[in-house]
Amino acid sequence: MRPAFRRRAAGLAALLFALPLAAGAWSGVQHIQINKAAGRNVPDEMAAFRDFARPMALPGIYPDLWKESDPDEGPRHYFEPDRLPPDTDVRALSPVQIEAFLQMDAVPAEIGIAPWTIVELLAQTTDAMRATNWLWAAQCGAALSHYVADLHMPLHCTRNFNGQETWQVGVHARIESDMTKAFFHADAIQPGPAVYLENPFREIMGWVERSAALAPVLLRADLIAKRAANGRIDSETYYLRLWELTGDHVTAQISAAATHLSSLWYTAWVDAGKPAIPAPFDELPTFSVHSGVGIDPASEGGPVGASRSRQNHRYDTIIWGVMGGLALVVVASSLWRGAQERKAKGP
Ligand SMILES: [Zn+2]
Repeated sequence: MRPAFRRRAAGLAALLFALPLAAGAWSGVQHIQINKAAGRNVPDEMAAFRDFARPMALPGIYPDLWKESDPDEGPRHYFEPDRLPPDTDVRALSPVQIEAFLQMDAVPAEIGIAPWTIVELLAQTTDAMRATNWLWAAQCGAALSHYVADLHMPLHCTRNFNGQETWQVGVHARIESDMTKAFFHADAIQPGPAVYLENPFREIMGWVERSAALAPVLLRADLIAKRAANGRIDSETYYLRLWELTGDHVTAQISAAATHLSSLWYTAWVDAGKPAIPAPFDELPTFSVHSGVGIDPASEGGPVGASRSRQNHRYDTIIWGVMGGLALVVVASSLWRGAQERKAKGP
């Protein structure tokens, strides 16, 4: 085993303790890491945004939590071009959702609407920046970040998103959540330069195509790793092999998500006329930018004070969940390294 890989393997023990964070996308930790990297990655002329984007990192996980209260939220997180005829040029579709679904013979809830959701939120972010409504710009820009990151997860771009068509049920969470939480480290994120996007919709569809092309690679890796582990998909052998086969792809996709997110934020700011960027907010509201639902279904319709405190409680739970997950990875890493060193030294 290569030393670098052995180091990455250090996090495996954390699998045992992994906390159930926001499901259905990269694990919550990766969404936050992508947003932080993207915030740092904006061009120098937009340097004030680097501080401004800091409170936009945690809200990158909220859209997964809105699913609990908003039945329309789910399809915003994926787009599955393999539901379309193979010769379909998705870049040639209309950036206007209603027009695109007239062009495609597809059902929005089935095929997903992530690209159009991003375009819509990009427009809202731009308008809000132009009007110097910076709170709304931050909320829309943070929501947009989630869908951008999701589209860079290849299994968000295929109809076989959970291996249900190939007897690989559960592969979605095994790769994007269990494996990445154990092995992926934020230091590995290396974004390319943020650039102005002349035609965001075509760019987004290009990201989708790249991501979709990786879906079969990930699904094949799951089969190979499962075989190596004699069918034990809960074993160390399985996850080590899976990471060996897919780690570079996952790292490249997460880095690309950070690059592309910073390009979208930069594009919004340029199109808004490069307005002066204010000091950052302490924190952003948790409610959905689409429907206004909170992140706690129990809070719907309740008295304002009570609902606010329940939301805060939920908010605290998320923060502590993320912090706890990170702490466990660190502890598990050092335990593992200690064990390896003791083994190397001999009795
Ligand atoms: Zn999601």
